[in-house]
Order: sequence, then structure tokens, then C-alpha cells
Amino acid sequence: MQTRNFKFRLYPNSYQIKKLQENLDACRWVYNKMVEVIHKNGSTSRNDLNYFLTELKQSEHWLYNYHSKMLQMVSTQVAGSQKSLMELHKNGYKTGNLRFAKYDDYHTFTYNQSGFGIIKYGNSDLLHLLKIGSIEIRKHRNVPENAMIKQIIVTKSRSGKWYCSVTCDIDAVPPKTNITKPVGIDVGIKNFAYDSDGFVTPNPLNLQKMLKPLARVQRKISRRQPGSNNRKKSVKWYQLIHERIKNRRKDFLHKLSTQYARKYDIVFVEKLQKMNMVKNHRFARGILDSGWGTFTNMLYYKTILAEIPARNTTVTCSCCGNSVPKSPTVRIHRCDICGLVLDRDHNAAINILSKGLGIFGVKSSLPQELREVTPVEISQRSRKQEKTIELSDGSSLSFFGI
Ligand SMILES: [Zn+2]
Repeated sequence: MQTRNFKFRLYPNSYQIKKLQENLDACRWVYNKMVEVIHKNGSTSRNDLNYFLTELKQSEHWLYNYHSKMLQMVSTQVAGSQKSLMELHKNGYKTGNLRFAKYDDYHTFTYNQSGFGIIKYGNSDLLHLLKIGSIEIRKHRNVPENAMIKQIIVTKSRSGKWYCSVTCDIDAVPPKTNITKPVGIDVGIKNFAYDSDGFVTPNPLNLQKMLKPLARVQRKISRRQPGSNNRKKSVKWYQLIHERIKNRRKDFLHKLSTQYARKYDIVFVEKLQKMNMVKNHRFARGILDSGWGTFTNMLYYKTILAEIPARNTTVTCSCCGNSVPKSPTVRIHRCDICGLVLDRDHNAAINILSKGLGIFGVKSSLPQELREVTPVEISQRSRKQEKTIELSDGSSLSFFGI
């Protein structure tokens, strides 16, 4: 069983927008009431917060107009904020009281277990939410037939668009026994993806390209009077650019993952130690901007994806197994033993593929001739003399180098 998330844009009409906002406001009101309880009584468990909610409904009858499960999920949210605050405190951070949620920083509510459904009506898809209604959604891909929807999170983006994120359980895809078209992909900062067939996808670095307009708007915001209408306009513009970057990146990731899913029947990638790498500041923006996690997540439901442990894939020579250590700035893999010269990412991708096939019990089925050979590799090879050793039974063994 796997848990997957799908995100869709909602297209509510003006009446539904009002309804969605009312639900958000009700949740925020409950949230702040619960924060008040914590301020008064100290740390409070989720169960006690739910008990408080039941009592609150006795005096606040209007709360019955909202889906009860949705309001209960607010206590999960409050308990979560409380817990992370306590953990920060434990780790030596200075923390104050749990803060009240302001209008601008409260933008999600959750329908869990019940009270929702996705239905087809004519040509359109509708998200049905109990006590709110049926809102049009645009599905760019389908939730699998065997999926069981567990939860719907409705989010209002900073620029005022509405989205829903659908969490569902999917029965795991049975692994195919005959692998006919496998590929290994090495992801990186310079090249977003380099695969074992030698196909390169450069990193689009969307954020970096759009940093200039972003900085321009930021300067504009700082020049405007706080609270003025002009400032609000600029802030909205800033958020719009941010959203545009996000959407472009998503679009790029979808196109690339679909391409791989169509061309190959199994994809091998390295398990990323993402958090460790993000700590390294020089790389941080590139990594956060690249969205590798989203990419592997997409591959996961579009095809069969196998993650292999990340170990020595850049160091090991994909031809002879020799260890060739290199710093991150060295872009070319150069092996002294067998004479192989390849782009470092290409070498890594081939290693990822053979490691992956090894896990599946398939012997690395990559004869050297079938691999795409780069011009550098060819010239290096011709310079090295081919050597032949005569064996005692009359046969001979050829190899390059040494
Ligand atoms: Zn080698």
C-alpha cells in the first residue's frame, strides 16, 4: 500500500468562494479559541481540545453549520503547533506562547475520512464537500481507480486561488519480472538529470531566471508606505510571480517524468540525502529550486521507480569498477585503469543502472558497445593500445589500457 498526493485547482463560483472563506474563518476562530485554552491551562492534549470543542458547540450553535470532522481536525492542527513549539524549546530555542492565527496566515482546512467525494458530472469533475457543495475541479491526471481517498486539504493560495490536495491509499503495483527497458538517472545541480543512455536535461533554474523581477518587486514593496493600497498591490504581484515560478517548475517536472515513464519500464534513481545537502549553503538554493523530490514522486506513480542506496556512484568507474575519487567541481570521469573518459554524471547514471539491475537479480546487461560513447571517450580509447594476452588453451583475452 502506498500513500499518494494529488493536487488540483478548484474553480469555485462567487457563492462557493464565500462559502470556502466562511469555512476557513470558522476553523481559524476555533483555532484561536483553542490557543486561548492553552494560554490559560498550559499544554493540552488533542483529546482534551476535542472535548473543549464539544462544549464550545453548546454555546456557539452556529458551529453546527460546519462539518464536525473538519472542526475536529483543527485540534490536530493546534496540537501539532504546540508540539513543534515544545520541541524547539527543548532544543534550546527561545520560544514564546503559541500565537493566535491571523487572517493572512491561516489558509487551509481539512476534511478527513468523511464528508467528501470526487464525482463526474457531464464533462466536468466536481469535488463534493459536505456542507459546502460541489465545486468544479480541473484534473490534469486521474486519481487511480483502485485508490481510496483518505483526506482532502483545501488551501487558499496567497494570491487568492483555491486548491485541493487529495491524499489516497493505492494498492502497490506488482513488480514486473521481465525488465526490458531499464534506465538509471543521476540528478544534479548543473544537469537536472543525466541518464544511462546519455540523455541530458539541463537544470532550468526557474527561480534564478526570475530572481530579477522578484527583486524588483521586493524593492518596490519596501519603498511603499506600510498599509497602503499600493503596497498591497505590489505584495500581490510578488506572490503572483512566486506562484508562476512554482507552476513552471511543476510543468517541467511533469513533462520530463512522463517522457521517462513512456520510454522505459523501470527507472532507477539514487536515494537522496536531501536534508544533509541543503545544510550546505552554496548548494542550498539550487537543490531547493530543482525539485528532485517532486520529480521522483511523479515517477513513482507514473512508472516503476526503484531507489537504490547512494554509495560511490560518482566515484566508481562504470567500466572496470576502479575507484576514481573526484571533487564536486570535476565534471569528467577519467579512469587510469581502463581508460574510460565520460561525463561524471553519465558515469554515475550507468552505475545507478547496474546497481539497480543487481538488486533485481539481472546481471548488468550493458555491453560497452551499446552505450552511447562520447567523442572524448573514443579519442581516449584510440590513444590507448589494445593489449592481448595469449592464454594457455589457445584463446586470447583483450583489454584496454595499462
Ligand atoms: Zn575504469
